[in-house]
Amino acid sequence: MIPRFVESSIAGLPAMDLILDEEVKGRLFLKNDLLSPQKYILEKVVDPRYRIISPLQVHGNVILTDGPSLPDRPEGDGILLTKGDTVASIQVADCFPVLISSGAGTPWRLALHSGFKGTIENIVASGLEIARVKLNVDTKNSFAWIGPGIGPCCYGRKLDDPWTQKAMKTIGYKFFSVDGNVVFFDLPCLICHQLMELGIPSENIVSCPDCTSCREDKFFSYRKGWQKERMVLLTYF
Ligand SMILES: [Zn+2]
Repeated sequence: MIPRFVESSIAGLPAMDLILDEEVKGRLFLKNDLLSPQKYILEKVVDPRYRIISPLQVHGNVILTDGPSLPDRPEGDGILLTKGDTVASIQVADCFPVLISSGAGTPWRLALHSGFKGTIENIVASGLEIARVKLNVDTKNSFAWIGPGIGPCCYGRKLDDPWTQKAMKTIGYKFFSVDGNVVFFDLPCLICHQLMELGIPSENIVSCPDCTSCREDKFFSYRKGWQKERMVLLTYF
């Protein structure tokens, strides 16, 4: 089975489908002209019988499992779905949406918001640990989609920033480069490395090659001035 991204359009909105073979495992709604994209998407796209889990994202590594659902919005940056009739919603603009899914067999999904802090703190590992404890998941037979998010071409941080310093001490040299007083981080490469360290084979991982900041025409980019707008990742089974 091969994971891939396929451009699509849902309810008149530009989207990317996260596909495994021919099955849609998740959908990312891209840049659009709506004032409240998530509200519109949840109303237009999601079956009203479904529960929706949409945490307040705080750049941490708390994972919610199967709830609580709207209108409750506890803090969290990851959602593990083990039940049907439930939708997980993660919002991003430069930060990386990451979807991890079962292949064949009992379905489950793990949707993550892996921004700079979440990636440095390895939210992928936090999510997969909970999936392992609750479901005994086999990472060798799991699949992952990374991005789109801000690439190493554009994601520079001040060298003297405490989080930049922490990151440089935590991660390997191949995931950042220093140019004067700016450090450029390769977050998609680091997320891919984290997934492989946890046992997901490289051929089961796909990373979107586009940078959200370079491709402002297509994506919302926080650093390009889209402070409130977010792209929305939905997954369910
Ligand atoms: Zn870029």
